[in-house]
Amino acid sequence: AKMAGRNTYRFYEPAMDEAQQERQALELDLRQALARGEFALHYQPLLDLASGRISGCEALVRWHHRTRGMIPPGAFIALAEETRLIVPLGEWVLREACREAATWSEPMRISVNVSAVQFRQPGLVQGVMSALAASGLPPERLELEITETVLIHEGEALKTLHQLRGLGVRIALDDFGTGYSSLSYLRRFPFDKIKIDRSFVKEIDNPDTAAIVRAMVGLGSRLGIAITAEGVETQAQLDQVRAEGCTEAQGYLISRPGPAREVLGPLERMMRAG
Ligand code: C2E
Ligand code: CA
Ligand code: CA
Ligand code: CA
Repeated sequence: AKMAGRNTYRFYEPAMDEAQQERQALELDLRQALARGEFALHYQPLLDLASGRISGCEALVRWHHRTRGMIPPGAFIALAEETRLIVPLGEWVLREACREAATWSEPMRISVNVSAVQFRQPGLVQGVMSALAASGLPPERLELEITETVLIHEGEALKTLHQLRGLGVRIALDDFGTGYSSLSYLRRFPFDKIKIDRSFVKEIDNPDTAAIVRAMVGLGSRLGIAITAEGVETQAQLDQVRAEGCTEAQGYLISRPGPAREVLGPLERMMRAG
């Protein structure tokens, strides 16, 4: 057969629907966004329920798109994972979060989300070491939040988790209770903390949900694992997660996530005042 011309090639190209076009545009923007410095971190405090003090903050990435404005992570993290752009983005988040935390006058912890794609990539441990070295942040002040999907490749995951803990950093299991085999993972992997997903906190006034939370807390405390309740929005929820034995709470009631200068300035003044 004769070589197909341009027009023939076009013929075979599947028609793009609007959603695909939108996705391609976003992907292109995402590729350029890192170079343009369009990402920023917001910080959300975690309240230690025993002492009533702020024990640390979670870093949450934001994208300040030059035309679309602020894009929340829910709208681009999955795409960043599919395109593996999450690897350089995650590296930036890690370095920026460590740099910021090293400037705090209170020795609070910084929690950083690590995507499964980023976790499985061979340079992760080296990247963590390098972020710690560059910032001078003591390793015990860094906490990495991973989700259950990381743990599917059990052998590899265990090796990486042990290497990370060998550096002295802490590991938290995020969105606890939303996966398939959360309970068995607790036995097999070395976690310092579990974060009970906000879907449970939201329904904690339901006695069945409260019973599940109580069971998670019981298990965690027997295994020596700290337990954070995520998504605490009301005083009633705070009272209840405290009553169920959670060690930490995070949510809009305590503080919404925001830029360091907005969230941390008032916090540090409050903590210095005692
Ligand atoms: P996540 O790790 O479970 O983070 C908690 C999310 O819940 C954040 O949403 C936070 O703003 C929100 N939140 C906190 N308190 C409350 C509350 O009281 N009520 C409600 N309704 N929501 C609350 P955000 O910042 O939109 O992040 C969504 C998800 O995107 C995160 O869920 C995490 O999975 C992912 N993400 C965010 N930043 C990063 C990052 O730097 N790297 C990676 N890999 N993923 C990230
Ligand atoms: Ca998280
Ligand atoms: Ca979570
Ligand atoms: Ca989540």
